[in-house]
Order: sequence, then structure tokens, then C-alpha cells
Amino acid sequence: MEDRQELLRGLPKVDEVLLDEQLFLFASTPRDIIVESVREVINNFRQEILSGTRQHQVKNEEVFEQLAQLLKERSKANLRPVLNATGVVLHTNLGRSRLSRQAYKAICDVADSYSTLEYDLKLGARGSRHDIISGLIKKVTGAEAAIAVNNNAAATMIVLAALARGKEVVISRGELVEVGGSFRIPDVMSESGAVLREVGATNKTKISDYIAAYEPEKTAVFLKVHTSNYRIVGFTEEVSLSAMVELGKKNNVPVVYDMGNGLISDLSRYGLHEPTVSEALKIGADIVLFSGDKLLGGPQAGVIIGKKKYIDKIKKHPLARAFRVDKLTLAALEATFNSYLDGNNAIRDIPTLRMICESAERLKSRAEGLCKLFRAECPAFDYEVEECIDQVGGGSAPTDELKGYGVSISGGGMSAQKLERRLRRAEIPLIVRINHDRVLVDVRTLNDDEFLLAAKAVKFAKKGEQDA
Ligand SMILES: *Cc1c(COP(=O)(O)O)cnc(C)c1O
Repeated sequence: MEDRQELLRGLPKVDEVLLDEQLFLFASTPRDIIVESVREVINNFRQEILSGTRQHQVKNEEVFEQLAQLLKERSKANLRPVLNATGVVLHTNLGRSRLSRQAYKAICDVADSYSTLEYDLKLGARGSRHDIISGLIKKVTGAEAAIAVNNNAAATMIVLAALARGKEVVISRGELVEVGGSFRIPDVMSESGAVLREVGATNKTKISDYIAAYEPEKTAVFLKVHTSNYRIVGFTEEVSLSAMVELGKKNNVPVVYDMGNGLISDLSRYGLHEPTVSEALKIGADIVLFSGDKLLGGPQAGVIIGKKKYIDKIKKHPLARAFRVDKLTLAALEATFNSYLDGNNAIRDIPTLRMICESAERLKSRAEGLCKLFRAECPAFDYEVEECIDQVGGGSAPTDELKGYGVSISGGGMSAQKLERRLRRAEIPLIVRINHDRVLVDVRTLNDDEFLLAAKAVKFAKKGEQDA
């Protein structure tokens, strides 16, 4: 035990550390970052001395150890891969959809090369980026025309700006959705310059409400928004899309359907009860919008499909430039839609669909495999295969529960909270949920080739326990 003043005086000096030959270890790091990091490390030691948690002289080696640690942390990217073991397939915080191998490859192909983004190879002249995918989207969905923008929020905005600026958009009070953060349908409408005409009540809206709201010179759009992230149950009544289409046709007013999810093929036999895009078109919606990274399973994007005369108007709107997607998105979107040309390929190739459709038996047997691996790799904890409830997530199919399996981890002298925190600090972080006070590693959202990495994270959590 030494005197506090003594300890402070004995702290290595920044200038001395900067002259130390051990610094050659960090030769590739810019000088100013090293200087700043050395200051930070020494300052941390100073705080420890002042707070009394440090009672021994700080050695030079310790400074260099801490410095190496800090520089390693700093060299890590802010956006980096994690293992999703939450069982939430479209985890909004973890980047929603995981892309298919085909989409991944398509992105790589155009990323470090020039491309045909706006170039027509046949003519040797300027082409349109819209044409890259519009034909394919038309083929897959059966729509007359299509355009992709930055995301579904942008799609809503541009559709209303192009079709309803200065006019009224009629919408049910039961469909004034907030998708998250600052995206609320009423706010988007007012930004687009359209005027919101709410009809009905939260739980009940009737076709007579739409009829009463209709005014020949004022009404520009009948808007239907799929309540993708909530359900109104009990004493309810909702106007069907077909009734709205009928009313729209009669009065020559376009019906716009914001679907959010963008489910292409019917997955009800897998327990997913969501309307599909082609159904909506068949019923006669003039415009349908949906996200690229929800149930479609592609990159972040907003897809707008429907009647050509409306899509043409949207394409010409100034916001089309502001909301346009870049080549990486287009590459991934094209590859994703390509998988839908054959429905069987879609479920096989697109991770989002594959994970949602995976059978409980298969999940159980995979969980058993993971359990074995955990026991072999890190026997310090207790493991058990457990049944659990998974979710589609991303504000999709909120009431559909998927039966899933995972491996629970307990024991090892560590609380679930502490283990969860330590797993997040692994080289490749393992993101888990805590179920009945136990950490649960859900296998639905993990690939088989990620099992070893998950085991590595568990091992790390145990090994470095003392510095947690
Ligand atoms: C998710 C969703 C949106 C927003 O989509 P983003 O692609 O996240 O911008 C809009 N409307 C509905 C109905 C949604 O479900």
C-alpha cells in the first residue's frame, strides 16, 4: 500500500511513453491517435488512484497492455457483424433481413467495379437505373409497372406527393400506423403536402365512411395501410381492399395500399398469415407499396408497383431523385427478386423465408447439435435444449408465433444478466435473449456454420469473466 500522492507522482508520463521503443508495435496507427490513446490510458490510471481502487505503482507494461487493448477496440468498425440468437427473424436493430448468397455476391460484383447502372449496353448510350429491376419486379408480382426507392417510408411519401399534393387522402382511423421512431402515417402525409381525411373510428370503419368523405374535386387517393405491426381485435370492422377498389373505380380515384411487409408467396401453411402482394394486385389496388427488407428478404428499399400511369407520375416527381437507390441496393434487390422467379428457390435461397419456414423438428435437432457442441467446447456451464416462441419481427405478423428451439445456458457461477453482457463483448458478439432468468441461444436465426462462433463467444464469456 503506497501513499496516493506517491502513486500519482509515479505515473508514467505521456511524453516518456511516447518515446518508448515498444511503440513500434503500433507503427501502423496514426500518431495523433496514439498520443490521444496514451493520454486516455494514463488518465484512467490516475482516476483509479484518485478513487482508491488502485493501490500499487503503475508499471510501464501495464500502460502498454492497456494501450494495446484500447487501440484494438478503436480499430473495430462501428458497423460490424453479430450473431443473432434472439429468434427474431427480422430484427430491426440487427439489420432486419439477412441477404441471400446471391444478393451478397451481386453486391460484391458491382462494388469494386464499374457497372451498367445507367448504361445501355445495346445502344452504347445512357440508360435508366429504374429499368434494371422494373421488368423483373413486374414479372414476379404481375404488376403493370414498378419502381424502387430508398425505403417504404420514402415510397409512401413520394406516392402521396405525386398523386395527392394539395388534395385529400382518405384513410381509416384504425390504420394511422406508427412504424417506429418518427415514422407516423399522419406526419408523412403532411410532409408530402397531401391533406389527411380521417374516417371511421379506431375499431370500426365502414365503406359508408369513405363514401361520405369522398368529394369529387378534393379526393385524390383512398389509402389503405396494412396494420403490419399491430392488430385491432374484439368489436371491430375494417373495410376490405376489394370494397375500396370498387369505390375507387366508381369515382375514378386511385386506391393505394401500403402493405409494409411485401410477402410475395403465400406462407400460411408455414403458420404465417399475411396478405400477399399479388393478391392485392389481383383485387385491383392501383398502387401497392412494401419494404425491401421485411418479408421480401432483400436489402433496405421501398418497392412501388401498380398501374403504369401512376408509376410514370411518380418516376417524374423530383423526390424520385432524392429517394433513388444506389447500385449496391439495386444489385441485391435484383438478385432477391430473381430468386422469386421460382417459388421453391425463394424459400431455399432467401434466409428470411427459410428461417420462418423451418420446421420445429428440424430446429429441435439443430438445437440438440448446438447443445452438444457447447458442452464439448465449454463444460463450465449447464446447457439444456428448450422449446420457445420465436417471432417474425420487424413489425411483421405480430400475432403469429413460431414454435422454436434453443439452448439455455445457466450455472457457471454467472448470472444470466452478466452472461448476456459478456456474450455481447465477444470478438463476434452473440446477441441473446433472457428467458425465465436463463440465457437462451435460439437456433432459428443462427446458421449452422455460426454454431462454432457462438461456442467461441460462450467460451470467451467464461474465460474473461473476472474483467467483466
Ligand atoms: C415497415 C412499414 C413501413 C416503413 O417501411 P421502411 O421500409 O422501414 O421505411 C411503412 N408502412 C408500413 C405499413 C410498414 O409496415
